[in-house]
Amino acid sequence: DAKGGGKGLRVYESDLDSKNPRRLTLVAELRGALARDEISVHVQPQARLDSGAVVGAEALVRWHHPELGVVPPDEFIPVAERSGLIGPLTTRVLDASLAAVAAWRAAGHPLGISVNLSTRSLHDADLVEEVSRLLRRHDVPASALTLEVTESSVMADPARATALLHQLRDLGVRLSVDDFGTGYSSLSYLKRLPVQEVKIDRSFVTSLQAGGEDAAIVRAIIDLGGHLGLEVVAEGVEDAAVWELLSTMGCDVVQGWHLGRAMPVAEFAGWLATRGT
Ligand code: C2E
Ligand code: CA
Ligand code: CA
Ligand code: CA
Repeated sequence: DAKGGGKGLRVYESDLDSKNPRRLTLVAELRGALARDEISVHVQPQARLDSGAVVGAEALVRWHHPELGVVPPDEFIPVAERSGLIGPLTTRVLDASLAAVAAWRAAGHPLGISVNLSTRSLHDADLVEEVSRLLRRHDVPASALTLEVTESSVMADPARATALLHQLRDLGVRLSVDDFGTGYSSLSYLKRLPVQEVKIDRSFVTSLQAGGEDAAIVRAIIDLGGHLGLEVVAEGVEDAAVWELLSTMGCDVVQGWHLGRAMPVAEFAGWLATRGT
């Protein structure tokens, strides 16, 4: 059975059909996962290119199923979205992320945390109150939280998403456009959205080479970000050569395997200590 057994759990488009028993199983499993605490958050560091200082981390959700093993977020987020579980899942991720950032700050590391929002979350009227409640609960300044949205999730319902983003911005939270360059509306929308950051999609970054096509795109995004007063983050930086190139191009912040992989929250303070920054 290609869809079952073993370690890799695969979700095919057909599984998302509500009549498909496989989907029902996955939904039930995910509901159970929330109850059984199989959901955790890993964090991947981000550093400033000018100083090399670690300035924060991105929270990346993990599902560790006792039999299926690690189920990748790309596979279960769509299921969560279609089954009404994305709200509780997002709350769980926000809660764990803000707990982590509160602990780092208490230990003398004034870091920020970035959390991904899915399309459905941008249509969730309760999200603003949830974010506000969790910031208070963990006593974390709103400016230490960045919420990442993709262009395509905004474009699913631009009026509604924009209104929600303004409400989140009013809380003092930072907003970032994730996977930038892969959507279809980039330029005109960027000006209208209340965002402070753009993240260059890793498809342009990972094999970046001076003089290549990706370099032209990355340079254009960095210049655009600069003109609009936005912080520019490059993700998927896997080696020193790309790091150097981004530095000469004037990119602000990097994230990727060359700096560090996503790791359990409990390992992050130790990782920071070994870096000595
Ligand atoms: P994303 O937001 O674009 O996250 C970046 C992905 O790139 C992560 O995959 C990360 O582990 C991976 N990555 C980081 N550095 C490198 C690198 O140097 N090279 C390469 N090749 N890959 C790198 P991950 O953790 O599997 O997450 C996949 C996607 O799942 C995320 O893409 C995001 O769209 C979604 N996701 C993850 N966590 C959450 C969450 O809590 N909520 C929501 N709504 N979506 C999430
Ligand atoms: Ca992201
Ligand atoms: Ca991304
Ligand atoms: Ca992505």
